[in-house]
Amino acid sequence: MNMNNDVALVVFSGGQDSTTCLFWAKRQFKKVYALSFLYGQKHRQEVELARQIAAKAGVEFDVMDVSFIGRLGHNSLTDTSMVMDQEKPEGGVPNTFVPGRNLFFLSIAAVYARERGIHHLVTGVSQTDFSGYPDCRDAFIRSLNVTLNLAMDEQFVIHTPLMWIDKAETWALADELGVLDLVRNETLTCYNGIPGDGCGHCPACKLRREGLEKYLASK
Ligand code: ZN
Repeated sequence: MNMNNDVALVVFSGGQDSTTCLFWAKRQFKKVYALSFLYGQKHRQEVELARQIAAKAGVEFDVMDVSFIGRLGHNSLTDTSMVMDQEKPEGGVPNTFVPGRNLFFLSIAAVYARERGIHHLVTGVSQTDFSGYPDCRDAFIRSLNVTLNLAMDEQFVIHTPLMWIDKAETWALADELGVLDLVRNETLTCYNGIPGDGCGHCPACKLRREGLEKYLASK
């Protein structure tokens, strides 16, 4: 088996989590690629921010257009006529859930990686703060890892450095990696498309801010 253990591909959105993963990958691997996706999201500028962060990090950057995902399933991140759920509804997932997103992203990332002889994939999903998204859970990632290996007869390894840590610990990791300010000021997590500290009131901003406050208080 000819495995290149020096190279990794990060599924990269330019948000807090995947940016932290990008710098985590830079510490673990000699060469890092960042792959972003256009999936019909309302805030297309997130891909431009992702490009800028990747340039700053000195990693290879590429974008895949998978906008069909927004047309396949109904969700408030791609449908401008829908009002975004502020809370997780009882017994369901919030309408910010994009069905199949991580399945498509990671499958496409694996094919992209294979073309370049890369076997290490990195994603910023977390089971701890997963908002009820089933495709952020460890069981899904492990299952998909096996499926991708079987599908392409390869030995991919999907790394999930944030799987078991919460938002405060994700900020701690960014700080340890020396990129707390970069992550705080230049990434976009806000569902209303405002970079840095964001709009302050959408669910993504709340989670991000509460984590940051918790981390800064513990320092
Ligand atoms: Zn926001």
